[in-house]
Amino acid sequence: MNFDEYKDIYVFVEQRDGKIWDVSYELIGEARKLVNQIHHVDYKVVAILMGNEIKDKAQELIYYGADKVIVTESYELIEYHTENFALVLEHIIKQFKPDALLIGATVMGRDLAPRVAARVNTGLTADATILEIDKEQENSTLLWVTRPAFGGNLFGTIICPNHRPQMATIRPNVFDIPKRDKSRTGEIIEFPVEVPSDSKVKIMKVIEKVEEGIDISKADIIISDGRGVGNRFDILKEVANEIGGVVGASRAAVDEGYATKDMQVGQTGKTVKPRLYIACGISGAVQHVAGMDKSDFIIAINKDPEAAIFNCANVGIVGDALAILPLLKDEIKNLR
Ligand code: FAD
Repeated sequence: MNFDEYKDIYVFVEQRDGKIWDVSYELIGEARKLVNQIHHVDYKVVAILMGNEIKDKAQELIYYGADKVIVTESYELIEYHTENFALVLEHIIKQFKPDALLIGATVMGRDLAPRVAARVNTGLTADATILEIDKEQENSTLLWVTRPAFGGNLFGTIICPNHRPQMATIRPNVFDIPKRDKSRTGEIIEFPVEVPSDSKVKIMKVIEKVEEGIDISKADIIISDGRGVGNRFDILKEVANEIGGVVGASRAAVDEGYATKDMQVGQTGKTVKPRLYIACGISGAVQHVAGMDKSDFIIAINKDPEAAIFNCANVGIVGDALAILPLLKDEIKNLR
């Protein structure tokens, strides 16, 4: 393998019905930061956009930090389809030879990335949370990709020194969305790929999931229920209503049946990054913290002064959450 042929950091852009998902902007922003650290070669951030009649969205990706956008349009890409998307991505990799390719660790990304990695015979680090350029060698473009391992009790840094592209899926909400800059310019490259219409799997019908309530990964304020609060959802909801927030949960609260799976924050739940996160009766296990420690401001309420959750909290309140929460609610009410 001639490594010199491989260059630039690529981001697979996830879109549904023409709406670009936030994780794609997050990854473009992170790719930009990585590229800015590479000085010995002229690396670019390249976005890969595929879909049906999607080209008009390419400029938006440039505003968010892409230098180039490769666009493949086909009617066969109107819905996400593993075989078709993998085929196009494989063609793009073989033609353009990216040094690294970042994909969101979403349902789509988790399905697509391993299949593509196998097709192009490279490695894939799944579910990463930290990306760095090799800090030990000068003039390196090797990525250090860090992900939780062993149930989140350890973090492993994985490299892909012998194959290209270096592929990684990265959890949504781990990185910030960069500022949209309308003055940015870039190149849009149309790359037609013949996508067969007779693939083995046919999508007969798409049934939209009916979301009940608010998606906690997009909420500004989250107040989370742990085993320590148990089924006293009424109290949490009252506080949440008072401050315009939504209720999240630890896995213990979900396992106990107090909360539903879509409310779970953490390694096997959702990664959240609200302006305010209030953890109530949550011990602070690494698997929970991995999903909320990027929140702007964290308040933790726990009876145990030694609880690990206090290590990542901006404000810690030691006491009974069931007694403190009603007081908090009244205090907030009085501020009005
Ligand atoms: P506990 O650990 O039981 O803690 C309850 C806390 O409440 C204690 O600190 C206690 O002091 C406090 N408390 C009790 N009563 C009160 C009161 N009245 N007022 C105030 N404080 C009180 N967990 C997640 O949350 N999300 C995940 O995505 C996740 N993924 C996992 C993946 C794997 C592979 C594994 C192995 C585990 C995962 N876990 C996850 C589970 C995690 O390890 C913990 O078991 C879980 O987070 C504990 O939830 P908890 O803090 O609510 O409960």
